[in-house]
Amino acid sequence: MLARGVRPYNLIDTIIKKVEADNPGQSAIASAATIIRSGGLVAFPTETVYGLGADAMNERAVQRIFEAKGRPSDNPLIVHVSSRDMLSRVVADVTPVARRLISTFWPGPLTIVLERRSEVAAAVSAGLPTVAVRMPANTVAIELIKAADTPIAAPSANASGRPSPTRAEHVVQDLAGRIEMILDAGATHIGIESTVLDLTGDTPSILRPGWITREMIAGVIGPVSLAASGDELSRSPGTRHQHYNPRARVVLVEEGAGRSLDDICAEFLREGPVGFIGHAKVDPDRPGFHAINLTADAEEYARSIYAAMREMDDKGAAVIVVQGISEAGGGAAVMDRLRRAATAIIGS
Ligand code: AMP
Ligand code: MG
Repeated sequence: MLARGVRPYNLIDTIIKKVEADNPGQSAIASAATIIRSGGLVAFPTETVYGLGADAMNERAVQRIFEAKGRPSDNPLIVHVSSRDMLSRVVADVTPVARRLISTFWPGPLTIVLERRSEVAAAVSAGLPTVAVRMPANTVAIELIKAADTPIAAPSANASGRPSPTRAEHVVQDLAGRIEMILDAGATHIGIESTVLDLTGDTPSILRPGWITREMIAGVIGPVSLAASGDELSRSPGTRHQHYNPRARVVLVEEGAGRSLDDICAEFLREGPVGFIGHAKVDPDRPGFHAINLTADAEEYARSIYAAMREMDDKGAAVIVVQGISEAGGGAAVMDRLRRAATAIIGS
């Protein structure tokens, strides 16, 4: 217990600034950039989820990201740049394959892994000789990086292990008192994290699926592998850690599970309050039951799924039953996140 009036040394005032998504204005961006330049932490929107940013070239600033999130130090961060010139401050060599991908997909939700320059803070790469980098398709993010005039390291702005934040309110829930500023531009467009593509091996390899699909990448550079397990995934340490977990237990019901969602929900209702997130029509009028209905569409799932999980926590759900969708297109990335969040999977 702290004595009355004594603040714990690590609690700071978090300034929350509302900005227009398309026109954030000079003053908010300038003060956020000043915080980044002086080694502080700013949460900002990207087109995927909110990121927690620090100067990628400042070792101490980057370490503060890990402290604020409670992130394991072996989980490297993505560096965000606002131009190709800035990219050359981060990576040793922009390979021809990287150049083709950049012209096609940047700015956008494709992160590429290349050999790093030694000027990048070592903590960014968690000891790896490589660095993950992307250019976000978001005006607020780009304006901030430009104004700070430094590459910004930014993982998702959630407490480690929690669902990623798609609104500033989620960042407030997880990180208020631990970071200097939050730029609030409303909900993010895509809602799930970027595709991570390793370009340092013989064949380009997807370490984390995302909105830019394997087919889209293969259409530009030819064969792409999908890192599934073991050796390959040890190159993406983040994939080993617990992810996307609300407080409630998540049960994923795969497409074609062959059981009625009403029956499954009824079964878990015997354990406690149940939250249902899905596209099937379920009977909403049951005590202790709360339903969030989505269309069976990857875009809507991606945009809504993390916020829906947080809402179910707020409603006090003990179990969240999530109905899966087809793996087509962006559905593969959505299902990847749901399988990681799930403690049990029905119908696999
Ligand atoms: P987050 O920023 O929270 O979305 O997580 C970043 C993801 O990128 C994690 O899955 C990391 O493991 C992955 N990542 C970041 N840097 C590298 C790198 N140098 N090599 C491989 N994977 C990386
Ligand atoms: Mg994350």
